[in-house]
Amino acid sequence: MALRKKDLMPTPDLLTDATCPDCRGEHFVIGPRGGLAANVRCAGCGSKFWYCPPFPSERIDNADSFYTQPPIRLRDWQVSD
Ligand SMILES: [Zn+2]
Repeated sequence: MALRKKDLMPTPDLLTDATCPDCRGEHFVIGPRGGLAANVRCAGCGSKFWYCPPFPSERIDNADSFYTQPPIRLRDWQVSD
């Protein structure tokens, strides 16, 4: 598979398409939340991101034990829910 320009971006932006930049998965487990931000973990590959639309998502690395909820489609979810 050829690399696309998007695969080479250092900062993944989940807000654009709500899919994992590593595996293209659309399901995420919601972890710790604060204010309008949340930590989310890809249900497919385990990559973790700070998610706070409309700001660009950032890659994070915290404990998998923070993520205990069932996976959801991030595009159907609002941090304020
Ligand atoms: Zn993934």
